Amino acid sequence: MAFELPKLPYAFDALEPYIDAKTMEIHHDKHHAGYTSNLNKAIEGTELDGLSIEEVLQKGSDKAAVRNNGGGYYNHKLFWEIMGPNGGGQPSGELAEAINKSFGSFDKFKEEFSNAAKTRFGSGWAWLIKQNDGSLAVCSTPNQDNNLMPNTACAGKPILCLDVWEHAYYLNYQNRRPDYVEAFFHVINWNKVEELYKG
Ligand code: MN
Repeated sequence: MAFELPKLPYAFDALEPYIDAKTMEIHHDKHHAGYTSNLNKAIEGTELDGLSIEEVLQKGSDKAAVRNNGGGYYNHKLFWEIMGPNGGGQPSGELAEAINKSFGSFDKFKEEFSNAAKTRFGSGWAWLIKQNDGSLAVCSTPNQDNNLMPNTACAGKPILCLDVWEHAYYLNYQNRRPDYVEAFFHVINWNKVEELYKG
């Protein structure tokens, strides 16, 4: 059973002016499509074929092609879901309480998450994860690594992520990664993040 490129849940231009349509189109139709197709090639005919993506990441991450493309498939799928055209603002309900408990305040969380995104050297991701004890933590990973892979520096369930590869922002922001990170907060779909937190 091959993995399929997930459909973008909104139009390419839905996140403008924060993320431009051309970047979204190339990012989804070329980059995410490439990871998906290369993941399928990497697992075809192996013992990983037919497993869920979570299982593939847990069992196959010692193989570079599986790690890079499996991570690329999973990370981008989550990334599209946790953004949206009516996003931004602040979370509410249980998620807001959990953020306050783990970070002190929303502003403290935002600062920590933004720093993780801005200081990741080279390509990678910033994450908000739910740990086994239910608390939240922020971290970043290199390349297409994520928190589901064994031996990660920050294990947990990813509930929010930000792609800081240059392909995610260079057309519009060039070298200004901090501006892109700030813009991202205007398109976060907090309802989806809360759903992942509770799930
Ligand atoms: Mn990307």
